[in-house]
Parts: sequence; structure tokens; C-alpha cells
Amino acid sequence: MAREPILGNNRDSDGGDEDRDLRPQRMSEMIGQREVFERLKIAIDAAEIRGEALGHVLFDGPPGLGKTTFAMCIPRELGVSIQLTSGPVLKAPKDLVPYLTNAEERSILFIDEIHRLPRIVEEYLYTAMEDFRIDLVLGEGVNARTHNLWLKPYTLVGATTRAGMLSGPLRDRFQIREHLGFYSVDELTEIIRRSAKKLDVDIYNDAAVEIATRSRDTPRIANNRLRWVRDYATSRADGRITLEIARAALQMAGIDALGLAPLDRKYLDTIIRVFGGGPAGLEAIAHTMNASPDTIADEVEPYLLRIELVVRSPRGRVVTSKGFQHLQMREPKADGPRLF
Ligand code: ADP
Repeated sequence: MAREPILGNNRDSDGGDEDRDLRPQRMSEMIGQREVFERLKIAIDAAEIRGEALGHVLFDGPPGLGKTTFAMCIPRELGVSIQLTSGPVLKAPKDLVPYLTNAEERSILFIDEIHRLPRIVEEYLYTAMEDFRIDLVLGEGVNARTHNLWLKPYTLVGATTRAGMLSGPLRDRFQIREHLGFYSVDELTEIIRRSAKKLDVDIYNDAAVEIATRSRDTPRIANNRLRWVRDYATSRADGRITLEIARAALQMAGIDALGLAPLDRKYLDTIIRVFGGGPAGLEAIAHTMNASPDTIADEVEPYLLRIELVVRSPRGRVVTSKGFQHLQMREPKADGPRLF
């Protein structure tokens, strides 16, 4: 069961380095997100023609939808270099300074999870983004002097799963803001087909559709499921992915027809069995499941809420009729409507 963590849920860390080999290298290779692509293309073309730095770009949206992929493609389109860092690593302005001073003209500085920057670093970015200028304090105590340092015009690209956590002034300094939405089954099928080609594995069309349907509308999850099915096909069959093989592999991993993993079903089952279908508070549910409330809130609930197996009410989480049906459990009969 060493495979389990990869297949689990919509974890941000699911892919890690493994994302690299399947990541599209150019924006034109990316599937879906056409409007985002078109708008970015125009901004990139215009920056190229004018020989200017591209305006700062902010991508937001749930994990695994292509924020990093877009960010990594931009410098290739512009023929410039990129530096990569992330919000939690930049604890103080001094951690950010080397990136800013090293930024070449028109190059990209990518900050992943930018909502996790401490406020003091966020504020330090204001002039660095708007005027390409920073204040450097050199020396200590009474000898300390503030020096004004001009930066080369560069482009900051930020990615966040929580745009609402960014301060208003920081958000407003991004000239280009793009929200990435979920993918259709057709788009995910195409991503799976292309990934299979990169992984050098034969896949039947109906098998690609099957994996796409169970991938929670998310490319990273689709690629992870594909990797597992490919391993299964190699170990248990002749390496080709047929519909039958895909179904057997996903079933073995506990991925059901809607793409729910065992933890998702345990969550629904807990609310139904222990709390009569709800309403139940997050903490109570998590403790009963012996899981952390953060894990449940970040990795389990978003998808279940989105596909309406659960709803959130002021009094807690409630499993919907669709949720009961999915687990093939009977909804308790109530005299009136259930109180949410
Ligand atoms: P995020 O930064 O939003 O968490 P990533 O950009 O890391 O997501 O995407 C995760 C993986 O999904 C990538 O490695 C890539 O293989 C795949 N992917 C994401 N978006 C697309 C897309 N539009 N077309 C093809 N593959 C994609």
C-alpha cells in the first residue's frame, strides 16, 4: 500500500517532483483554461513587442489546476529566466532581498502560496512591485543607514489557493489576475491521453474517460490516478490500459465512481452513522474520525460540498439525499424537513 498517499485526496503535495515530467512546457500545450490562455498571450505579446517587463500576475484557484504550470510557461514564452520561491519560506524581508536584487531585467520571480507571506514581507513588496525600488538597511545601531536600491524591471508571478487572504494593497499591485477553474471530463481525458503518451503507455479511449471521470475535475489528480493505473497494468496485465484494467485498479485504490477516496466515504459515513446525517460540527466529526479538522476542511470537504453530497449550515455539516444515495444508505424518515 505504499501507493496510498499519491492516490488519497486533493493534497497539494500529491505530485511533488513527479509533476515535473508531465507538466506542459509551453502554454500552447496546456489543455483547457482557454480564456486565461488568450488573455495571458495578449499581455505577453504586448510586453514582447514593447520590450517591457510583463505586468505582475496573480493566479488563484484550488490546488492542482495549473497555477504553477502557467507560471513556469511564462518565462519560456518570454525567453527570460525564472526564480522560484514560496510564501512560507520568506519569513522576513531579508529573505526576499536576494531574489529581488538577482532578478534580471524582464525575468520572472515566482512566489507560490503567496498568501502565506508574513505581513511584513508583503509590505516590503509594495514598493518593489510598484516602483521597482527597495529600502536596504545597512549597518547597525546608530550607524544604521537606509539605502534606496533600484531593481531591474521584473515580473512577480504569485500563486494562491486563497486570494482572499492577501491584503488589498498587495492584490491591487497585480496588473493581471487570473482565476483557474475546474476542468471538464473531456479536457481531463485529453490531459490523460497526452500524459499516457509521455509515460509511454498505451491507453484505450474509454479507459481515459473512466479515469477522467474519477479525477475530481483536477489535472494533478488525473495524472496521479493515471500513474497508479499504469503501475497496475504493468504488474497485473500486459501494460496496456483497458477499461477493465482502469476500473480494477481504481477499485483496488478505493476510488469510487464519483472519484471519492476512502477518507471521503469515511467522513460521510461518520456523519450518517454517528450524527444521524447531521447537522454536525467539523471538530466533532474530525475527532470521531480520529483525523485533524484541518485535513478534513482542506482535503475532504471542498469536493464533497462542490458535488453537493454535503451542505454547510449554521448548525454544522449535513449529508444531502444525494450523499445518502451515494453510500447506498437510507435517509432517516423525519416528520418534517430536516432542520439545517
Ligand atoms: P497548481 O500549481 O495549481 O497546484 P500545477 O500547475 O502544479 O497546479 O498542476 C499540477 C499538474 O497538473 C501539472 O504537473 C500538470 O502535469 C497538470 N496540469 C495542470 N494544468 C494542466 C493543463 N491545463 N493542461 C495539462 N496539464 C495540466
